[in-house]
Amino acid sequence: MAELDLRDLHNTEFPIPDEMQGNVAITSLSRIYNWSRRSSMWPMLFGLACCAIEMIATAASRYDLSRFGMEVMRASPRQSDLMIVSGTVTKKMVVPIVRLYNQMPEPKYVLAMGACASGGGPFKEGYNVVSGIDQYVPVDVYVPGCPPTPQALLHGLIALQKKIDGQSLANGNDVPWYGVGPAEPTPIPILGPDIIDPRQMDLIRRQAQLAAEGKSFGLRELPPLKPTTTPKLAPKAKAAPASDKPAKQAEAAAPAPAAVATATAPAATKPADGGKFDKAAMLAKIREKKAQKGS
Ligand code: SF4
Repeated sequence: MAELDLRDLHNTEFPIPDEMQGNVAITSLSRIYNWSRRSSMWPMLFGLACCAIEMIATAASRYDLSRFGMEVMRASPRQSDLMIVSGTVTKKMVVPIVRLYNQMPEPKYVLAMGACASGGGPFKEGYNVVSGIDQYVPVDVYVPGCPPTPQALLHGLIALQKKIDGQSLANGNDVPWYGVGPAEPTPIPILGPDIIDPRQMDLIRRQAQLAAEGKSFGLRELPPLKPTTTPKLAPKAKAAPASDKPAKQAEAAAPAPAAVATATAPAATKPADGGKFDKAAMLAKIREKKAQKGS
């Protein structure tokens, strides 16, 4: 754990005599709240594929995650603050991932590590892979790469810390977990012949009806992902001290490379024929190739 340096917390226009700088801190509530959250972020102990090896390397002695207060990887979602989705997200695994996400207490964060978790990666067109975990849970930071190096993951973690630093207790959107009433859980996808997002049930029913009538029903689209928690804000939310910087100002100052805090999924590229698989054409091609080899 990093040594406590009170100078990190100073956030005030009140002058502190030099000889007392190491003993006294005058700061804002938001600053100390953010500082304590970001300095003790516990990741969940799970990995999905090759990216997980890089995540494990990041936690080893060479890169030393304890510098960030993140060395305690918890084997239970109920004690975790950060979900690092490290690897290929298959349709089968997305169900427990969302369930684990729902079991994490607020405030919770998600980091999509690698091309697979961010958008499907090399397996994007695979029948069993989802095109990014951000279609199911809100992602705070994307770390690009296949696989991202431990340094890239560290950069993503620092970007997440900067994002937290920019949040303010005075802004209800930054701290929705202090809202009134329970937060809405993220719908858990249903695993069937294809993965079904319960938010799409109306659309699926309409399309099934059109298909039964022999009409064209188009493509199934995932609905835009809403923030997981949208409870009403507590009426008693008090303004933070005036010295607290607005959240957006500090967020804008965060470095861009690995830190793209958005819940919007990258647009999937659909085949020109609308994604329909032409089995007869493919078999004809295979026969043609065999015939060429034989001759
Ligand atoms: S992004 Fe590359 S290294 Fe990471 S899980 Fe996917 S294929 Fe493996």
